[in-house]
Amino acid sequence: QLADVGVTGLAVMGLNLARNLARHGHKVAVHNRTYTRTEKFLADHGEEGTFVASESLEDFVASLERPRVAIVMVKAGMGTDAVIDALAELMEPGDIIVDTGNAHFPDTIRREHALRERGIHFVGCGVSGGEEGALNGPSIMPGGTVESYERLGPMLESISAHVDGVPCCTHVGPDGAGHFVKMVHNGIEYADMQLIAEAYDLLRKGLGATPAEIGEIFAEWNTGDLESYLIEITADVLAHTDPETGQAFVDIVQDQAEQKGTGRWTVQNGLDLGVPITGIAEATFARSLSGSLPQREAGRRALPAKTAAWEVTDREGFIDDVRRALYASKVVAYSQGFDQIAAASVEYDWNIDRGAMARIWRGGCIIRARFLDRITEAYEREPDLALLLADPYFTDAVSDGLEAWRRVVAGAAQNGVPTPAFSSSLAYYDGVRSERLPAALIQAQRDFFGAHTYRRTDREGSFHTLWSGDRSEIAG
Ligand code: NDP
Repeated sequence: QLADVGVTGLAVMGLNLARNLARHGHKVAVHNRTYTRTEKFLADHGEEGTFVASESLEDFVASLERPRVAIVMVKAGMGTDAVIDALAELMEPGDIIVDTGNAHFPDTIRREHALRERGIHFVGCGVSGGEEGALNGPSIMPGGTVESYERLGPMLESISAHVDGVPCCTHVGPDGAGHFVKMVHNGIEYADMQLIAEAYDLLRKGLGATPAEIGEIFAEWNTGDLESYLIEITADVLAHTDPETGQAFVDIVQDQAEQKGTGRWTVQNGLDLGVPITGIAEATFARSLSGSLPQREAGRRALPAKTAAWEVTDREGFIDDVRRALYASKVVAYSQGFDQIAAASVEYDWNIDRGAMARIWRGGCIIRARFLDRITEAYEREPDLALLLADPYFTDAVSDGLEAWRRVVAGAAQNGVPTPAFSSSLAYYDGVRSERLPAALIQAQRDFFGAHTYRRTDREGSFHTLWSGDRSEIAG
């Protein structure tokens, strides 16, 4: 009897995905390069569903019902290429190879094009939620052809997280669209985490509050507009005491944030497309700064930080200000991420429905949050919305918190508390709503030193001023 679907790569992610598929009634072929891992899988989980195990990739492919669906969940990069190449040799036109690893979207585009030539559907599929999500319901972002989604959709939707009965999985768009959206999801995750970290730092330095007290504030925030997985786990982490030392857990963790690269990819792509994703960029650079040890050491020695306490007097007012500033900054970071998706959708011809992206991020993934419903509603109101911040709900939400946001950023600057994401989000907000920007001066400078020309406010065309001559203007 043939299997409905196969999973190759039975490390933690693939193993849990295979179990999730089996729990939903699918007959699952399983394979791993090293067979002992497959044997262990069968010993630990073989009773949880119907599995067909193969030692060789040939037998694995032969155990799949046509058109075959093989999910590849192996180490990203060369490992993925090796497995895809070997599978492609064994598969037939009409079969589907799904890469659920963390591939970089240009690799997915390249792989999709190569396999398309051979009539094989290649689906780059973003999966978010870590190992827990893979087992109990992740957010799933599949790219690839519409035809492949017809076969895959029901299966992937069945194993995805569900919110209000709606699956957190939809066809994102052609070739690399799925992995692209997963990448931006991770970029937004960086921004959201940085903003939360800044809010924590502000409360700690502004109020002199203990981590446990701040944990309680976060737990309270989690009952309102900020309700989200990241706020919830922040409350949990802050409440945790290190059993060994009895200190607050957050105080015994080294303050150097690591990164696996998706934030960097998102920022690189933002630069390529010319989309100002300042929240994600600041979050990525903040992690880089935290890990810049020689620079931090030199900075601490040569530029000792201000030591006087901030001494906020209105405790409740300050907590409320930080909450509002966090929400406003978060709206900006998400708005920027959705702008990036819109720009990529045009650039790569993907036709991505941004409202649907917010919908499939409501469950299963790290940035799941109540607030995503508001984003979906905004794009339902206006599918081509140029700026999320211009949607009436967000306009109100941000303008309600604007004074608080300014007080928090000003207070942080005066007291020497670094808030790169809060501050840059406010600067973006003020920039995007400015009647006129000093970019006019930059264009004039460019024309002065490089004859790059400028456009005038009062008539069409491009012009150049003869700066080193008589300063007359000529048409450019
Ligand atoms: P790893 O990234 O640790 O990869 C290990 C698996 O890859 C093993 O099954 C290994 O086989 C296989 N593998 C490595 N190289 C090759 C090769 N050349 N040929 C065949 N198989 C190979 O596994 P994870 O489960 O942690 O992650 C799988 C994928 O999921 C990765 O792309 C990762 O980036 C992504 N991921 C996604 C997360 C998410 O939240 N979406 C979270 C974590 C990971 P063997 O046993 O023979 O060594």
